[in-house]
Amino acid sequence: MEELKKKVSNTVDQSGSPVDKHFDVIVLGVGSMGSAACYFLARSGAKVLGLEQFDIPHEMGSHAGQSRIIRKAYFEHPDYVPLLESAYANWKELERITQAEVYIKTGLLYFGKPDHQVIKGVLESAGKYRIPVEKLDNRAATARYPQVSLPNGYTTLLEPDAGFVTPERAILLYTDQAIQLGAVIKTKTAVFHWKKEGDDYTVSTNQGEFRCKKLVITSGPWTAKLVPALKQTLTVTRQVIAWVIPRKPASFEWGRWPCWMIADEHKPGIYYGFPILPVGRFHGPIGFKLAHHTPGMVSDTDTVSRIPTPEDEANLAYCLDKYFPDGYANTHVMKTCLYTNTPDEHFIIDYLPGHEGKVAIAAGFSGHGFKFVSVVGEILRDLVLSGSTSHPIGFLHAKRFPA
Ligand SMILES: Cc1cc2nc3c(=O)[nH]c(=O)nc-3n(C[C@H](O)[C@H](O)[C@H](O)COP(=O)(O)OP(=O)(O)OC[C@H]3O[C@@H](n4cnc5c(N)ncnc54)[C@H](O)[C@@H]3O)c2cc1C
Repeated sequence: MEELKKKVSNTVDQSGSPVDKHFDVIVLGVGSMGSAACYFLARSGAKVLGLEQFDIPHEMGSHAGQSRIIRKAYFEHPDYVPLLESAYANWKELERITQAEVYIKTGLLYFGKPDHQVIKGVLESAGKYRIPVEKLDNRAATARYPQVSLPNGYTTLLEPDAGFVTPERAILLYTDQAIQLGAVIKTKTAVFHWKKEGDDYTVSTNQGEFRCKKLVITSGPWTAKLVPALKQTLTVTRQVIAWVIPRKPASFEWGRWPCWMIADEHKPGIYYGFPILPVGRFHGPIGFKLAHHTPGMVSDTDTVSRIPTPEDEANLAYCLDKYFPDGYANTHVMKTCLYTNTPDEHFIIDYLPGHEGKVAIAAGFSGHGFKFVSVVGEILRDLVLSGSTSHPIGFLHAKRFPA
């Protein structure tokens, strides 16, 4: 990973302007979605410029933290499943092209009351799309997974094909591939604003102005700053992740323990986490990583406090104390990250209203977008180069929210 980071850092344009100032497509933000968009656009032969305000990757937006859960039995809505089928295929394709490890199949355990929306939603998507999911009662679950202690009446589901993807590595791989295919990627280049001028768009940055025929907006938590019409729609929240050292670390290691999600009956959202990963194979801290998936404190991207608090730690300790008798000895590292939430917690992937055919936007991933990166990049390419996509994104249209 460090080598790949160095390679990308040496091939991006960090200060000098590219020779040309006119592109087919400019991508605003080369993070999760933007890096994949740059790759798919460059692969289709477009002359692409990707503009990133920080380095690639970085810890200020939504993609830091080593791992992101990927799963198909989507409790949020079954309409995501066809997109996930494509996302899984595209992750595999990225692995094939780069010979790197991006998708790691660990299996995923879901715990919760049978009438909880998460459990019902997993079963609904699994039933509709024939996704393998095994159901275990409390006794069978704790016999197979003695690491967890479950309240009476909980049910356990196991999705064997779920696991995690590696965000920083994936972003670097897509960026590297995009550059190899001819894309120009500029880091440390902050976009101030963009506007339509005649048939083209002009993008103003701290490195000067660039022009293009089509725009892709993938600015994550900064999206509403570049698209003020979305200020009422997108809410940025501060989220905290922790890596803890369990009392019995060996029982939480990869191979003995999978990814997991707990729909606690008294708390909103879900607690979730990962197995302890082997040293040296993955970027980032070592430990039993966990977080709480529910919108945190509403924040501004420029002033948000990045320092974890005792309350943040106490919230995660609640989950460890209640469900994992040997899960906690001490906290190793805590970090903050940002969600960009829509009012219904579903994504926006569409043309920007008023710029149909010209400006595509992917935003408001509401804390569950990373697993889709590999298909979102392809969809954005379709929208700006072909004028439509065969991927079923109708339910994610932008006009469902008032401007
Ligand atoms: C703690 C946490 C846990 C998560 N867990 C999961 C999970 O388990 N599974 C899952 O699928 N998803 C998960 N997610 C969600 C997922 O990571 C996000 O949905 C995804 O990373 C969003 O991608 P993005 O491209 O919109 O934002 P980012 O990756 O932040 O990219 C936006 C980029 O645009 C750049 N940018 C913005 N404005 C400008 C500008 N003016 N000029 C130049 N560049 C600019 C930013 O610097 C940034 O690099 C999690 C998110 C968090 C925070």
